[in-house]
Amino acid sequence: MTSMTIGICGSGTMGRGIAIACLLGGHRVILFDSAPEQIQRCAGFIAEHIGKMVEKTRLSDADRIAMLSRLTTASALNVLTECQLIIEAIVENLESKHELFIALEDVVSETSILATNTSSISIAAIARPLQHPERFVGLHFFNPAAIMKLVEVIKGPHTSDVVIASCSTFAKQLGKTPVIARDVPGFIVNRVARNFYNEALRIVMERAASIKQVDDLMKGLGFRMGPFELMDLIGVDTNLDVTKSQWQQFFNEPRFQPSVLQQHYVDSGLLGKKSDGGFY
Ligand code: NAD
Repeated sequence: MTSMTIGICGSGTMGRGIAIACLLGGHRVILFDSAPEQIQRCAGFIAEHIGKMVEKTRLSDADRIAMLSRLTTASALNVLTECQLIIEAIVENLESKHELFIALEDVVSETSILATNTSSISIAAIARPLQHPERFVGLHFFNPAAIMKLVEVIKGPHTSDVVIASCSTFAKQLGKTPVIARDVPGFIVNRVARNFYNEALRIVMERAASIKQVDDLMKGLGFRMGPFELMDLIGVDTNLDVTKSQWQQFFNEPRFQPSVLQQHYVDSGLLGKKSDGGFY
C-alpha cells in the first residue's frame, strides 16, 4: 500500500493515538476538530510521544522530523478534500456523527473511504443518510491506539468488499491485527467488555468492595488494568456513552443498564485522565 493522506476528525483520546499510528505507518495526517484548542493539544501530545520514542531509541531523530513534517492541522473540513481515507473519532453520538459525515461527503472525492472509530453505534445507523454508504466502514482502534494491535473492521449493510479488504490491508500495514466484525451492538470487544465495567460499578454501588479493591483483584487475576483504571484511561464520559448506546440497542436489556454512579462522575466533570480527576 502506498502512502496516503489521512484525515482524522476528532483530536481527543483516540484521534491522537490513531494519528501517531498513521504517521508511524508512513502516511500524511491532517487533524481536524471542532475545538481548535484540542487540535493544538493533540499536535503537542503527538510531538511529545514521538520525542519519547526517540529518547528510547525506537526512532531516529530523522524519523521524528519526517513524521512531524507529515502532520498538518485543519481548521475547516474542506482542507480534507485530498484525503483518501478519513477516520472519524469524535464524540460517541449518532447525530454528531451524521452531521460530520454528511458534511464530509460534500468535500471528499467519491473514492475516498469514510471510516468511523465508533465503539458501539451501529454502522448501518451512521451510514443511513450517506449518499455513498458503500465506501463507509467501521475501523475500531483500541486505546492507546498507537500501541494496541487489535483493530475491528466492521462491515455495514452496504460496505463494499473492496473497502473491507483495503481497510484490512491498511491496518496490517500499520502493524495492527485486523479482525472483521459483524455490525452488532458493541461489535465483539465492547460486547464482552461491558460486563467488565458494569459489574464492577455494581459491586462498588453495593459497597461489596472499594474501587481500589476491585481493580487490585482484577489485576491479581492477570488483567493489565482494573475496570476503574481503564475507565479513567478511556474517558469516564466516553465509556458511559458507549454503555448507554449498547443498552439502548439491546432494548434496555438489564445486563447492560448504565450505572448512576458513573453518571454521577460524569456530571461532576470527573472524566478520568482527560480531566483533573476520575475514579482516581
Ligand atoms: P474524546 O472526548 O477524547 O475526543 C473527542 C474529540 O472530538 C474532542 O476533541 C472534541 O472536541 C471532538 N469533537 C466533538 N464533536 C465534534 C464534531 N462534530 N466535529 C469535530 N470534532 C468534534 O473522545 P474519544 O475517547 O477520543 O472517542 C472518540 C470516538 O472513539 C468515540 O466514538 C468513541 O466511542 C471511540 N472510541 C473511544 C475509545 C476510548 O478508549 N476512549 C476507544 C475506542 C473507540
